[in-house]
Amino acid sequence: MTLHRLRKSDTLPAVGRDIDTTCSKCKAELAHTIMAMVAEMPAMVRCNTCGSEHKYRLTKAAATKRKPATGVGSRRALPRKDDVTLSRERFERLAGDRDHASATPYSPRLVAEKGLLIDHKTFGPGVVELVMGTKATVVFADAARTLVVNR
Ligand SMILES: [Zn+2]
Repeated sequence: MTLHRLRKSDTLPAVGRDIDTTCSKCKAELAHTIMAMVAEMPAMVRCNTCGSEHKYRLTKAAATKRKPATGVGSRRALPRKDDVTLSRERFERLAGDRDHASATPYSPRLVAEKGLLIDHKTFGPGVVELVMGTKATVVFADAARTLVVNR
């Protein structure tokens, strides 16, 4: 049995974080990266699957999960430098000395397996860290992202 440690306390929206919302291009609820925040709500998001940017639309699930505004969260909107440094170290450790030119181009049909080096047209090279059905956690040099795979 494998335990997937997704930190629930780390899911407050912030720029650079992932959020599940509907992609109008992919026509599915998918992981997006928050590109801009207005107050404590995501304003612009980028689809992790097709890379398109669009306005954030509140989904039903997100609406029920939404926490009351406390007024102290606005300073958290920028990613901390530590997070980026940690992510780069994680990416380099996973990628090892593999040639990025040998990476598999990413698409939702990608047959993902742990350790696979992929090349995403928006995010660049990344390494598959975890596969959960049709979603995979991929570590890029700047952040880890959830991508749709095995479609
Ligand atoms: Zn999309």
